[in-house]
Amino acid sequence: MRKLEYLAPQTLGEALETLAKQSEGAKIIAGGTDLIPRMRSGIVHPTLIVDLRKLSLNRIEFKDGWIRIGATVTHTDILESDLLASHCPAMVEAAKEIAGPPIRNRGTIGGNLVNASPAADLAVPLLAYDAFVVLAKASAEREVPLMEFFTGPGQTVLTPDEILTEIRIPVVPPRTISKFIKLGKRKAMAIAVTSVATRLTLDEVGNISLARIALGSVAPRPMRSIMAEAILENMTPAIELFAKSARVASMESSPISDIRASGDYRKQMVAVLTRRSLFDAWQQLEKRDR
Ligand SMILES: Cc1cc2nc3c(=O)[nH]c(=O)nc-3n(C[C@H](O)[C@H](O)[C@H](O)COP(=O)(O)OP(=O)(O)OC[C@H]3O[C@@H](n4cnc5c(N)ncnc54)[C@H](O)[C@@H]3O)c2cc1C
Repeated sequence: MRKLEYLAPQTLGEALETLAKQSEGAKIIAGGTDLIPRMRSGIVHPTLIVDLRKLSLNRIEFKDGWIRIGATVTHTDILESDLLASHCPAMVEAAKEIAGPPIRNRGTIGGNLVNASPAADLAVPLLAYDAFVVLAKASAEREVPLMEFFTGPGQTVLTPDEILTEIRIPVVPPRTISKFIKLGKRKAMAIAVTSVATRLTLDEVGNISLARIALGSVAPRPMRSIMAEAILENMTPAIELFAKSARVASMESSPISDIRASGDYRKQMVAVLTRRSLFDAWQQLEKRDR
């Protein structure tokens, strides 16, 4: 029988020292909702499990101009956060769409990002909010834009001796609205067929000063649709403009066909959901300004 050691460090320093000495064969566990099924199916065979749950990485706070979300914050914590509801509502909308209550109570934001599924629900709004991830190892810490974190399906720039400790979101400017929409094969317990998060900021005359469009499940990694964003910036919001941007987002996506949907269908859904999401965001801003 394979030997499996389990450690639950009390401090981040202890966890990082452990990984510095013994990163080979080590796996971090947070909620375990991804790792345990993978171990059971024989996809991964760790010899050491380092549990993060005793570390104080479970805060959501506003500090030094950033919204900071600890890596072990669960999907339920996000759903219940007033800070995120007022500053980053698309995060709350995405957390609401993840699995069902048991998985939401255990699954963490750090695990969702490190797992690096192209369909990871929280990655999509976080890209729209220009988030950064903090990666720590015993000797150093680095801050990486989320855009540069994912390198492919299940792949990230995280090294085996690093822990993702925190997600940082720059403060969202006034007159900003964001929206997340997920299309699954059913209303709950469904991995995204396509997901979209959009963020619009209007300037004092009502033109779009900043636009973000992020997509899930339609490329090897969660992605931003940079060309579609550029179409919107410095323009006056209008339905035709949103439709044009949505068509470009669809062109920029490169979905595969799999058991959940064909690539063609996903491309069409990128256009539909992007247009809908931009329109909803704009309507909400207009209502707020009235
Ligand atoms: C039934 C079911 C339904 C699901 N539905 C959805 C869904 O709708 N949407 C969705 O996006 N996901 C879904 N998931 C996937 C999963 O629940 C989430 O991705 C969850 O957020 C993973 O977090 P975790 O804490 O459980 O990760 P874990 O399983 O603990 O870890 C996942 C991976 O990340 C690594 N890791 C975890 N935390 C860190 C860290 N801080 N630093 C470095 N490495 C770390 C682990 O070593 C492991 O490789 C579902 C899973 C199940 C089983």
